Order: sequence, then structure tokens, then C-alpha cells
Amino acid sequence: MSYGKGIIKGMGLTFRQMLEKPDTIEYPEETRPVPVYARTNLVWFEERCTGCSTCAQACPDGCILVATSQDPEGRRNIDRYEIDFRICMYCGLCTEACPYEAIQPGGPLDDAVYNFDEMYRDKHKLTEIAQDFLKNNDGVYPNGMTAPDPDADFHRL
Ligand code: SF4
Ligand code: SF4
Repeated sequence: MSYGKGIIKGMGLTFRQMLEKPDTIEYPEETRPVPVYARTNLVWFEERCTGCSTCAQACPDGCILVATSQDPEGRRNIDRYEIDFRICMYCGLCTEACPYEAIQPGGPLDDAVYNFDEMYRDKHKLTEIAQDFLKNNDGVYPNGMTAPDPDADFHRL
């Protein structure tokens, strides 16, 4: 008798679930809103970066490369800033180490590639990602600060 009751209870639960709105969504046609500061990716903002290399030193995988030079006025130029996402484990230590919040967690979570080597991103690719981010977020960084006007004449923040 208790065996029959169990089946009825189980079927009742099944039918109840069938009538409820599903928790799943039809990705990629539908996407869920993701908090802007979620650890989806890394976004590097050149205008905030001093080229100090603290992020590179903090990275346990050694996937950040920073190369700088000095211009005749004694200012530091960032010649290269590169992240090897092929070996990045998205731990976020670089974002925590950066004294200027020039590298922040956030950005695209759907940036899968067919060619693995495209996961190596140089300064130009990283800048493209950062600019796309700012364009889609009303010029606000993932940390909530407002980015400077891109048309304004500035060197570094
Ligand atoms: S991202 Fe931050 S820690 Fe890395 S070089 Fe630029 S300012 Fe320094
Ligand atoms: S998220 Fe971690 S592994 Fe990736 S670049 Fe930053 S420190 Fe390195």
C-alpha cells in the first residue's frame, strides 16, 4: 500500500514540475543578465595602466607580458601588454594586484574561438575588447567608475 502511495506522490511532483516555468534558457538565443563585475573575463584599460608590471609579477601562470620604454620627455610608454589566455586560469590575482585598477574582472563570457592561438591577446586586441566593453556599458568600468571621455586629450589617468 505504501508502495502505491509513493508512486502517486512521485507522479504528483513530476506533474507539478512540468507546469512550472523552466529554470533553463535557450542559450545562445537567450542569455541571462550577468553582473557587470562578475569574473567572466579580464578587461585591460590602457588609459589606466602605468606599465608597472605588478600584474605580471602576481600572475602564478606567467601569462602577462608587459614591455615598456621611455619617451624623450621621460614618460613611460607601454610598448607591449599581452595576456596568454591559453594558460590563464581566471584566478583574478592580477586584478587584485593592480594598484590602478587598470585590469579588472568583467567583460565577455562568450569569446570562445576555433583557433586556440587566438586566445593569445596583444595590446591591440585587449584595447578592442576594452573599448567594446565601455561602449556597451555607457562608458563605465566594471568597478563602477566612469571612464574619461575617449576624445579628451589625456595621456594616463
Ligand atoms: S595593469 Fe596594473 S599592474 Fe599591470 S602594468 Fe598596468 S598598472 Fe601595472
Ligand atoms: S587571472 Fe590569474 S592566471 Fe589569468 S592572467 Fe590574471 S593572475 Fe594570471
